[in-house]
Amino acid sequence: MVGAGPAGFFTAEFLLRSESPSFAVDVFERLPTPFGLVRAGVAPDHQKIKAVTKTFERTAKNQRFRYFGNVEIGKDLSVAELQEHYDQIVFAVGSASDRRLGIPGEELGGCHAATAFVGWYNAHPDFRDFPFDLAAERAVVVGVGNVALDISRILLRSPDELAKTDIADHALTALRASRVREVVLLARRGPAQVAFEPRELEDIAGLTGVRVNVDAAPVEDELSGSGGLDARQKRNLELMLELARAKPQSAERVLRLEFNAAPVELFGDEAGRVRAVRIERTGLVPGTDGRLRAVGTGEFHELEAGLVFRSIGYLGMPLVGAPFDQTKGVIPNLDGRVTSGAGNEILPGTYAVGWIRRGPIGVIGTNKADAQAVAERMTEDVATLPAPGPEAARDAIDTLLGRRGISVTTYADWSRIDALEVDAGRATGKVREKFATVEQMMSGLLRAAPRDVE
Ligand code: NAP
Repeated sequence: MVGAGPAGFFTAEFLLRSESPSFAVDVFERLPTPFGLVRAGVAPDHQKIKAVTKTFERTAKNQRFRYFGNVEIGKDLSVAELQEHYDQIVFAVGSASDRRLGIPGEELGGCHAATAFVGWYNAHPDFRDFPFDLAAERAVVVGVGNVALDISRILLRSPDELAKTDIADHALTALRASRVREVVLLARRGPAQVAFEPRELEDIAGLTGVRVNVDAAPVEDELSGSGGLDARQKRNLELMLELARAKPQSAERVLRLEFNAAPVELFGDEAGRVRAVRIERTGLVPGTDGRLRAVGTGEFHELEAGLVFRSIGYLGMPLVGAPFDQTKGVIPNLDGRVTSGAGNEILPGTYAVGWIRRGPIGVIGTNKADAQAVAERMTEDVATLPAPGPEAARDAIDTLLGRRGISVTTYADWSRIDALEVDAGRATGKVREKFATVEQMMSGLLRAAPRDVE
């Protein structure tokens, strides 16, 4: 298994449940720590969602499960080496990057990917040193999915409340000094087409000191339209109408939703920092796929903002040695069986699961069904596999990693890191205090149990 996020862990769980054949699963993870987006994506003030790690803990306790943290496939070990050492390999690497707007000014200082902000406040080592400057009073977030609402909530919520969570220490310090008072969400389509879940908007509306501003007219239009709304759309519209009609109250911070608004250019100041967004009003037309598409109306306005986040989706990245579909940002596959070349030829014993299989859509639980389906394909295919070579012996991979001098972290090492983080958090009243660099994790381990990590 390449990747220790939810898709990887759920697949491991289904494989280990099988009695015939009996699988042994080795999981490789680039970071010393497991759990992918459960650790580095789920917002720190959504602790309940993180309880899924209890299931992963149970999987990891299985005698036939091994964890190889701090091992990067494509660098420390090649995909070809994995194929030599294992009967089957599964890519569960998720979508490590983000989509870009492709508009002028996107490279200006102060314009960021929402996904980088998420990684930063969640102490993901890749984003530890991102230069998030929260000195502006207005932030614009482009896109209206659940990630957009997550980052809006983190920007608007009282830092004292965040201080009890497992938010990264560096992020909490920056948020305490933040001058952001207004977050404007730009939806390129209408209120019926927002991608977020109603409970996420409810969450923000319920925050102390925060008001949500929505224009009632477009929401009323949708609600009084010809129907065809599903339950989520209806609930979202009802909630937005409630918020639009609520008696105006003074609030320290505001979330404002702007519909039919597509950013077309970002303007910068002399220092090369974003200062305003040029927005085109849009109308909706049916696309060839039946989905309503936003089209520009030629009417423009400008909105001042010193901070802009594009929150328009994650993007899968190619892994050296594995096939990749550049257009879709996924590993090409047929129901999880990885394919290569133009002829959709199946690569025996090679699978993909989770976001890198189907694209960056769906919540953590969505990966469960995906994992089950891929585990079933793998079970079906076992009988067709060639007899294993000498490299398939389980300790051969340990020997190879040892020869290369890779400091592998085991699951027991992760448990120690976990305990250190929880202890450090307890000292300051937080759920946990995460290590934000790989060096900190490794030196923490050395302090905790010097003999085990030599
Ligand atoms: P998403 O749900 O796909 O939302 C992307 C948003 O960006 C949509 O509003 C989309 O609008 C907009 N967009 C796309 N391209 C655009 C462009 N060029 N210009 C302007 N707007 C554009 O993606 P996400 O928010 O990154 O979330 C990813 C997945 O993780 C989702 O399935 C989400 O539910 C899940 N997630 C769940 C939670 C939770 O349950 N709490 C938290 C975080 C993430 P259009 O509809 O017009 O394309």
